[in-house]
Amino acid sequence: MTTLAECEARDAADPLARIRQRFALPDGVIYLDGNSLGALPRAAASHLARVVEAEWGEGLVRSWNTAGWYDAPRRVGAKIARLIGAHDDEVLVADSTSVNLYKLLRAVLSADSARHTILTEPGNFPTDLHIAQGIAAVDPRVRVQLAPREAIADAAGPGTIVLLTHVHYRTCDKYDMAAVNRAVKARGGIVVWDLSHSVGAVALDLAADGAELAVGCGYKYLSGGPGAPAFLYVARHLQARLHSPVTGWLGHAAPFAFADDYVAAPGIDRFQSGTPPILGLAALECGVDLMLETDMALLAAKGQALCDLFIEQVDARCPGLELVTPRDRRVRGSHVSYRHPHAYAVMQALIARGVIGDFREPAVIRFGFAPLYTGFADAWRAVEALAQVLATQAWDDPRFAERARVT
Ligand SMILES: *Cc1c(COP(=O)(O)O)cnc(C)c1O
Repeated sequence: MTTLAECEARDAADPLARIRQRFALPDGVIYLDGNSLGALPRAAASHLARVVEAEWGEGLVRSWNTAGWYDAPRRVGAKIARLIGAHDDEVLVADSTSVNLYKLLRAVLSADSARHTILTEPGNFPTDLHIAQGIAAVDPRVRVQLAPREAIADAAGPGTIVLLTHVHYRTCDKYDMAAVNRAVKARGGIVVWDLSHSVGAVALDLAADGAELAVGCGYKYLSGGPGAPAFLYVARHLQARLHSPVTGWLGHAAPFAFADDYVAAPGIDRFQSGTPPILGLAALECGVDLMLETDMALLAAKGQALCDLFIEQVDARCPGLELVTPRDRRVRGSHVSYRHPHAYAVMQALIARGVIGDFREPAVIRFGFAPLYTGFADAWRAVEALAQVLATQAWDDPRFAERARVT
């Protein structure tokens, strides 16, 4: 079994280890929740201060042009495109993941009156289900159909939009993107991918895998900061046919003509709803830039190695935990989840020991391995703390019983 010394040696030899210093991680904390809120890039604090004081304070309205504010949604989108295997004119940073889901689903439904069914899996991330339900609630033509993941592709047909989260937020199951795209397309359907737990965690090649539409989150592995703006991806060949349902002025072909009538901008710009959140974009760009300093294949491989190590150690040292994440790295993302009857209290006891993961209903503890700033010794020490919490029943403490509202 792997020892702590071996883990420290792996960290010392890791070409990505130098990037850890570029994050402001608090002493005494092992942070395994970068898949919920990515850690703070040190550069973000000084960059934001400059954007606020110089660009906003001094530049004022001129900064829309002189500081690159106007171009930020496309500029940062083009950088994210490099992380997901897309062309630079196929990705736009805008709104939240939820709103982008709405925009893309609605755009596909409106472009083709023969499409009427949003097909997804039960247990998908709630916002994906809720956005689909909200669309169906106001459009009698649309229905939401649920099918288990292994039956999804077969359930698709010409009237279907398949809505899938590529890496499942709880179990970490990962779809074979190329195979799903191929199967759904062969049946006349189209797929919208939610990449929230994939981008920055696993190797993605949207173009090669035949992906046509996707959304993703800015504040998880991309370390864009709490509530960072999200992104959307529309493959070039669909851009002229799809229209955003939120026809705001900045998605207009000529916003500064201030015309009465809406004309959609050519290309991906039409999916911009309104004025972009510049402070949020500035923070997000710091996180994305850090990720671009490395190689996504290297990052993904390290994430998998961290998960493998964690699973191996828990197998050996933590009886009573049931693994709900696949052991096969080819079909999983970069987090590991376990079921335990007292999952919430177990996680609270761990957090009290400085190991931060999270709890997910029902009865699941989840550990994210953000490969940019998590080391092998971190994973080893986290298991040591977990083994101790379980062996001593440290979770059985009234302090750990009460549920927090936001976790
Ligand atoms: C985190 C996450 C989101 C986040 O949506 P918001 O609009 O940012 O709240 C959406 N989908 C999935 C699958 C997620 O994991």
